[in-house]
Amino acid sequence: MDTAFFAAWIEEIARVVAAGKEWLTGLDAAIGDADHGANLDRGFTAVTGALAAKEPDTPGSLLVLVGNTLIRKVGGASGPLYGTAFREAGRTLGDTPEVSVAHLHTALEAGLAGVRKLGSAAEGDKTMVDALAPAVRALEQAVRDGKDPAEAIGAASEAARTGAEATIPMQARKGRASYLGPRSVGHQDPGAASTALVVSALHTVATSW
Ligand code: ADP
Ligand code: MG
Repeated sequence: MDTAFFAAWIEEIARVVAAGKEWLTGLDAAIGDADHGANLDRGFTAVTGALAAKEPDTPGSLLVLVGNTLIRKVGGASGPLYGTAFREAGRTLGDTPEVSVAHLHTALEAGLAGVRKLGSAAEGDKTMVDALAPAVRALEQAVRDGKDPAEAIGAASEAARTGAEATIPMQARKGRASYLGPRSVGHQDPGAASTALVVSALHTVATSW
């Protein structure tokens, strides 16, 4: 997976976030402040603008640019969290021009560690961690099983979606939704839902690469 692959991933994220903007905002309306779709759409629109102005020449520097742009452009909790995830993933890739699926796993694991450190959410707290952590685990398992990249990323995407759906019965312990206490139960966490879209976008690109 080269720089063009990662650029295609980001383009696909921008597309699915724009298409899912109302849905994500609706999820955030139920247990937050109804801005998650708008926040991410603003962020990824800025990201595609930044990439169009000057496409970085390695996958790592591309992801670092994505992360920095998200931190700068997205308010709320999700901007710094998503921004950190992409930046840490990018840093982990270093200046390698071609990323293996095992290396991708290491990068996503670093992204997850960055989110955990910044937000101090554990699995079960009803946040994006509930989608990202199972995705990273599924990718690790698929790599160990010797699956090809598209199949491995497909397993990660499936795990993220399942993880996001599993936030519905959870009570939020982090972020704005935690203010609702037991009233946060019965709704999918918007950040987990968007994380599932982000990983699904990776699968879309991996299958057509
Ligand atoms: P805000 O909550 O500031 O309005 P967004 O609506 O854009 O920001 O994002 C909300 C999402 O951010 C939540 O659905 C949750 O997934 C994620 N989130 C919030 N706080 C944390 C945290 N401490 N750790 C991990 N994720 C978090
Ligand atoms: Mg919000």
